[in-house]
Amino acid sequence: MNKPVDKGARAAPFAGRDATRGELVTERISVRARRPWVTVRPDGAVVLTIPLRGSRAAALRFLDDSQPWIERTRARLAAVADVPPPVASAERRALRARTEQLACQLLDQESARLGLRHQGLRIRDPRSRWGSCGPDGHIMLSMRLALAPPEVFRYVVVHELCHLRWHGHGRRFWDLVRRQMPEFEAHRAWLRRHGAALHRVVLT
Ligand SMILES: [Zn+2]
Repeated sequence: MNKPVDKGARAAPFAGRDATRGELVTERISVRARRPWVTVRPDGAVVLTIPLRGSRAAALRFLDDSQPWIERTRARLAAVADVPPPVASAERRALRARTEQLACQLLDQESARLGLRHQGLRIRDPRSRWGSCGPDGHIMLSMRLALAPPEVFRYVVVHELCHLRWHGHGRRFWDLVRRQMPEFEAHRAWLRRHGAALHRVVLT
């Protein structure tokens, strides 16, 4: 068999076939994976990760078992994929209050799920980022996040909370984000696609 081996981070372009549906699934062999792993990309494409020392048959069975999860994940992706920012202008004070209220709810929910505690929240309007997590455990969030779809807002909150455990954007950081929010890549993609439009919303 001529399967490419990669170090885990990049998907190898090996097209296999989904045994159940005949649809195309990208298979990648990972030296790091300990068990089969399925992800759904923002465009709905399915990637099956097969451990280098694992059995492909077992991975395909896992893929079969994952079909309900794949369908649910695709539905969630479709729900957020192309919702554009809703407004052309917003009142700054009202937007800040709305963002703060939503942020408090999301921080409560997600920090409880993660078992991580932040030390305070600041709402700002930076030009270049959606949030940050300071070394003192304070979280800063963009007041424009209330203009994004709720799950995109939730992703930014999850992202910053995960920085309480891991600084930087290494593999362990993204593993934690993925565990907390398996479809997070769709929300990152939304921000890349529509982030500039959120910044164009005029605050009065
Ligand atoms: Zn980050």
